[in-house]
Amino acid sequence: MSTTTQPKLRLEHVTQQFPLRGTKEKFTAIDDISIDLAAGEFLVLVGPSGCGKSTLLDLLGGLEKATAGDIFIDGEPVSGPGLDRGIVFQQYALLPWRTARHNIEFGLEAKGLPKAERRERAEHYLELVGLQGFGDRYPHELSGGMKQRVAIARSLAFDPEVLLMDEPFAALDAQTRESLQDELLRIWKATGKTILFITHGIDEAIYLGQRVAVLTSRPGRVKTTVDIDIDRSGEDIRSTEEFRKYRHRIWTLLHGEVERAQVIEKEAAHV
Ligand code: ADP
Ligand code: MG
Repeated sequence: MSTTTQPKLRLEHVTQQFPLRGTKEKFTAIDDISIDLAAGEFLVLVGPSGCGKSTLLDLLGGLEKATAGDIFIDGEPVSGPGLDRGIVFQQYALLPWRTARHNIEFGLEAKGLPKAERRERAEHYLELVGLQGFGDRYPHELSGGMKQRVAIARSLAFDPEVLLMDEPFAALDAQTRESLQDELLRIWKATGKTILFITHGIDEAIYLGQRVAVLTSRPGRVKTTVDIDIDRSGEDIRSTEEFRKYRHRIWTLLHGEVERAQVIEKEAAHV
């Protein structure tokens, strides 16, 4: 086997169970998920609400330990949080008492970078996410989209090889979301990062992903993986025929899942 084919990120039969409160039983949140991400790949996980997406992200981030299975980065098992992974959460996890610049510098302090270098790097990433001139603002002085840009800049600034993003644009209005999607694609092309992006949005998944893994509902499994091959150079590519075909395909895959989830919910309500 050639070493050049080693995936950047590998999930191998990952299962996560939680204790069911008041019983001795276990509840399976994600079940036997195996996925490989090549270096520099942009993979999107799409799945219905409650299918275990954030649970999976906690495992990838090393914040939780899987019940079974393993996660590897460059062949090394993940055993805790690390600066090789940057995480962007759905809600801008910024420190309210720090300015945008100092939020970005936060991780760099942990890395032990000297002050001048921290400052320079923060400026660079502020510019990369289109926030030059906003470094002195506090989170409450920024819009939702701007806060999410700061969170992305902060994750990028300590130069992680892998970027993990959990519905980072879900709380934003459609226009801001689309502009941040473009921004993210631009950054991905400029930096060559390996990105695992989680969403429940079909259009977002197709627009961003080179590959889209569709998850089943409860427990989350990989139902299928779809390679996305669209010409992204044109205008309004979400309206093209090929985009529509992908949308229909993934919608059909997910639709059964959403119905299944509703049945499970109804059943659970009757217990
Ligand atoms: P998603 O992000 O896809 O919406 P989550 O990963 O947040 O889904 O949750 C998946 C399922 O696991 C949900 O039913 C949720 O209630 C459950 N769950 C998540 N974290 C815990 C936990 N720490 N203890 C018990 N159950 C949990
Ligand atoms: Mg979630």
